[in-house]
Amino acid sequence: MSFHSPVASTRRDFLRSSAWLLGVAALPRATAAAPGPTEPVIDMHQHVHYSGRSDDALVTHQRTLGATLSVLMPSGDRGGEHKGGSGEHEAVVALARRFPGEWVFFANEITDQADAPRVIERQLRAGALGIGEQKFRVDCDSPALWRIAEVAREFDVPVLLHFQHATYNRNIENFHRTLEKFPSVKFIGHAQAWWAAIDKQYDPKAGNYPKGPITPGGITDRYLTDYPNCFAEVSAGSGNGAIVRDEERFRGFIHRHQDKLMFGSDCPEGTGRAPICFAARTLDAIRRLSPSKAVERKILYENAKKMLKLK
Ligand SMILES: [Zn+2]
Ligand SMILES: [Zn+2]
Repeated sequence: MSFHSPVASTRRDFLRSSAWLLGVAALPRATAAAPGPTEPVIDMHQHVHYSGRSDDALVTHQRTLGATLSVLMPSGDRGGEHKGGSGEHEAVVALARRFPGEWVFFANEITDQADAPRVIERQLRAGALGIGEQKFRVDCDSPALWRIAEVAREFDVPVLLHFQHATYNRNIENFHRTLEKFPSVKFIGHAQAWWAAIDKQYDPKAGNYPKGPITPGGITDRYLTDYPNCFAEVSAGSGNGAIVRDEERFRGFIHRHQDKLMFGSDCPEGTGRAPICFAARTLDAIRRLSPSKAVERKILYENAKKMLKLK
């Protein structure tokens, strides 16, 4: 793929230094305070046209945040209205082509749509590096999702899943069935139920964004411990909430799962800066709570680089 060619990499370096220079010109104080613009950061989760944001505003958001490479997820279900499909696939490919080396993209289609595996295969052949985000109204151990996992197995690409109680990839407590059925497929968990279930006392009736201390032994922690093919990306309000509700527990979580966690933003706003940008706050927290620089580098860069098979 062109993203990996030496030419693309030279262009990437050029774009990165241009972005840095532009950032300095436009925002001297904020950019100067950002930790190491040359230090690569992979954002595993972004969207085009998120809350009406333009492509240019998205590019600025990512550069301000400090993401040097971002993964575009063709949209899942947004409040019952699917905006994915071939139209959104074209939009993510167009942005990735406009800024080679700064963006890569995933393939996606509604899980239980009859031709979903064929549509996803076509997008993978067109350069998608994974499948997601799968955010559709199915059970997380459903035959519909298993058809998608079969494509992932065949193409050896990861699947990113949005878990939300009674809504998307339902019944997280049954997800071990999917992990066991496809041991060679890498599944990346994210969203409300995924991060709420970091707590053994997780009770869906308490809402999507629980607060307060975490009781160890949550199902998310167990999946990451027990299944080599289970991974997670820390994005969105749910990922940030899992950190801020009990930072000391999350410090241990980072240590335990340092080879499984990846940074993601999934952020819809335009600043790319704390306090408005939850992704900027999550990035700061990962830097602060990682037990060493080496672990921080794994979570912000190395684990995703390996997952995406980037050179
Ligand atoms: Zn999601
Ligand atoms: Zn943001």
